[in-house]
Amino acid sequence: MTVPALQLANVSRAYRQGENTITVLAGVDLEIRPGEMVALVAPSGAGKSTLLHIAGLLESPDSGEVFIGETATHDLDDGARTRLRRTEIGFVYQSHHLLPEFSARENVILPQRIAGLSIPEADARAVEILGFLGLGHRLDHRPGELSGGEQQRVAIARAVANTPRLLLADEPTGNLDPVTGDHVFATLSALVKQSGLAALVATHNLDLAQRMDRRITLKDGRVVAMA
Ligand code: ADP
Repeated sequence: MTVPALQLANVSRAYRQGENTITVLAGVDLEIRPGEMVALVAPSGAGKSTLLHIAGLLESPDSGEVFIGETATHDLDDGARTRLRRTEIGFVYQSHHLLPEFSARENVILPQRIAGLSIPEADARAVEILGFLGLGHRLDHRPGELSGGEQQRVAIARAVANTPRLLLADEPTGNLDPVTGDHVFATLSALVKQSGLAALVATHNLDLAQRMDRRITLKDGRVVAMA
């Protein structure tokens, strides 16, 4: 049996709001395997962002354990968490957050340089991944010279530049028109299948959710399979 790319074991998280404590996650168990694309569908306020932040090591749970591959993360210091996040986890948001003064290629090179790759290595990988995502003819364009769908594909390329194990996406097609969104989703899907990446994708789009391997939701602070 392969090791899950992501495992949450009995993860709980509550927030204090004044006098009150709001329990958002109450014993979440979740596993996502390499090559698996899982849709997280839940109403606003249900805890999707909290779950993604905890899975992405941006926030720590109050209790429970988060494994990235075989690595248990609870006892890691900040430096080790940051390194793990940089190399093993990619993030895609609703807005692309690309650096406007840099080309598509440079936006994909940058995280690799931060991870310690040489310029030729990082450039070769940027060209390869942008090519796979259908952007071989847009390498030297800046974000402002790209369409919304192209910008989001560059954001996906940047997220997977360091060949992470896990991709976390929050409404990745939420800002795109349906046809463009479909195209970006299809590209993302092909990438997951081709690379063996594991993806957790929060979305309100039931149509897209149906096209993923599995659908989960949050109910009373726990992850359950969607009916
Ligand atoms: P979703 O992404 O599904 O909309 P969130 O994870 O953002 O849900 O939020 C879940 C609940 O936790 C909400 O009631 C929200 O108000 C609360 N919450 C989220 N982050 C914080 C925080 N930093 N401090 C206090 N309450 C928070």
